[in-house]
Parts: sequence; structure tokens; C-alpha cells
Amino acid sequence: MKVLVATEKPFAKKAVDGIRSIVEQAGMTLSLLENYTSTEQLLEAVADADALIVRSDKVTRQVIQAAKRLKIVVRAGAGYDNLDLEACSEKNIVAMNTPGQNSNAVAELAIGMMIYMARKQFQPGTGTELRGKALGVHAYGNVGRLVAGLAKGFGMEVYAYDPFIPASVIQAEGVHVASSVEDLYSRSDYLSLHIPANDQTKGSIGKALLSLMPKGACLVNTARKEVINEPELEAIMAERKDLKYATDVAPDNMEALRAQFDTRVYATNKKMGAQTEEANVNAGLAAARQIVAFIQNGDRTFQLNK
Ligand code: NAD
Repeated sequence: MKVLVATEKPFAKKAVDGIRSIVEQAGMTLSLLENYTSTEQLLEAVADADALIVRSDKVTRQVIQAAKRLKIVVRAGAGYDNLDLEACSEKNIVAMNTPGQNSNAVAELAIGMMIYMARKQFQPGTGTELRGKALGVHAYGNVGRLVAGLAKGFGMEVYAYDPFIPASVIQAEGVHVASSVEDLYSRSDYLSLHIPANDQTKGSIGKALLSLMPKGACLVNTARKEVINEPELEAIMAERKDLKYATDVAPDNMEALRAQFDTRVYATNKKMGAQTEEANVNAGLAAARQIVAFIQNGDRTFQLNK
């Protein structure tokens, strides 16, 4: 039974060692494809794999079709927009993610980006503080909830909007519930985005919402680039000289944004949210355990394509 770990952006060594130990103790073999540079390499490696662990790697229909023995694919992470679930289902391949395992890393990065923007990207000059500012948390899932908790520690006033979480759950954690998404944006000095990228949310953050934000507001996106309407973001930032944007996922028009808006815009060079040793270990080991539990006991707890 072969478990393939295919990572264009490899796990930390500690995570790989842990995955190997779990897989080998279960009597399976581990195969590693790290830092690969072409789809062909992935297609070749996956051909005889029974189980596959990926990070942000794209598991397309082509990859699924090349995987002749595949029974399960696990995305070591939360967002699973890189998996073709339909193609998996057609071949009876179970697809899973590892929810919550890297959330703290992403939440800390979101707060870090807020401070970085408040301090004008550490350029000379006078910045501002987070204390006393209003933070809007758009989607109160695993990451959003942790960001809210950390922000309260900084003395921020925290609001959240998530139509799928009961208001009482959010309020019980000392967080105000915004009455609508518009209400959230109109209150937020900082807006931290944590919605998934899906058919409802893609391109949904644009001029209509961003123009509601208070003077000097900053949008922080550690979710997915696809949820932003990038041309509208550029237009509103040109119109409103006070708005700022920090993102873990560089937009397609990053060069244009940087040229026009200087320190009002920031993007990490590569997606950094889950790039901590702890998150690698948490998500990688969870993926390995989920594979073993599925192969040995048919455990489908984290199955996405039900
Ligand atoms: P999660 O599944 O725990 O939470 C998502 C939340 O979004 C849920 O509470 C859900 O109710 C809510 N939601 C769904 N649709 C919504 C909508 N239309 N409006 C408002 N709320 C909505 O996910 P998570 O682990 O908190 O991850 C959040 C985001 O962060 C995802 O986009 C994920 O892909 C991304 N992420 C990025 C990194 C990174 O490296 N930057 C790492 C992990 C996760």
C-alpha cells in the first residue's frame, strides 16, 4: 500500500518524519515527491499510489485519471478548492481535508499583517495601534474565531458575520454579531477575511463592500485571492486614498497595485498562512492518521465528497 506525499511546496522535515512514522507503523510505504516542477512528474508519481497527501497542489481531473489505484486523497489543510471533488467521486475516491489543523498559524499571520500595515510596513514615520480599533471578522470558522480571540487580547472591538453560525455562539465568545455583511464592512477599521472560495463567494468582495469601510480602513485577506474582485479593488483604492490591502495571496494585478499604492498594499511572496513548523506537523500528521483510519477501519469522518 503506497502513500504518496506530493508537495510542490514541501512540508517541514519534522512533519515528513512524523508522516513516515505513522504510515510505516501501519504497514504502508511512503513515497515523497517534493519540489516538483511539472504536472508530468505528479502524474507519473501518482500512477501506483493508493493514498495521496497534498498541500496546495492541484489535484485535477487529469491527476485523478492518472491515479489508477487511488482510494483516498487528503488535502493537508483547510481550503480544498485545489481538489476536483467531482472527479474524485466519479472514481469512488474519498477526498478529505484536515480542518482546524493550521488555523492558529493563519490567525497569527492575519494579526501580524494588521500590525505591519498599522506601522506602515515598518517604514520611517508615525503609525497607529490596534487597540481600540474595530475588527470585522468575515466568516467565523476555525481561523476567524482564533483571529477574534487574539484581537480581543489586543483590545480591539470585534464584530463578526457568518450566516451559518448561530449568533448566540459568536456572542458567547465576547464578539458582536453584525446584522449583515454591509453592517460588518461599515464598522470595520480592519476587516479580516475568512470565507471559503466557492461559487457563492468568488469575486464577492469588491467596490460595494469596500466603499462602506471607515476612513483609513485595512482589508486583510488570508483566505483566497479568488474571493476578491481584483479590478474593483484597484478602482476603489485609486478612488479612496485612505484604504489599505494586505494579503497572503498575491492578486493577479499585484504589480499595478504596488506601483500605484506603495505601502498601502502588501502581499506575501508565497502563500505563508500555514507555513509554520507547527501547522505542517499538525496538518501533515492529521492527514496521515486519517488515511490510516480510512484504510484500516473505513473511517470517513472528514470526507468532503459525501
Ligand atoms: P472553516 O471551514 O473552518 O470556516 C469557514 C467559515 O466560513 C464557516 O464558519 C462558514 O460558515 C463560513 N462561510 C461560508 N460561506 C460564507 C459566506 N458566504 N459568508 C460568510 N461566512 C461564510 O475554514 P477556515 O479553516 O477558517 O479557513 C478560512 C479561509 O482561510 C478559507 O478560505 C481557507 O481556504 C483559508 N485558509 C488559508 C490559509 C493560508 O495559508 N493563507 C490556510 C488555511 C486556510
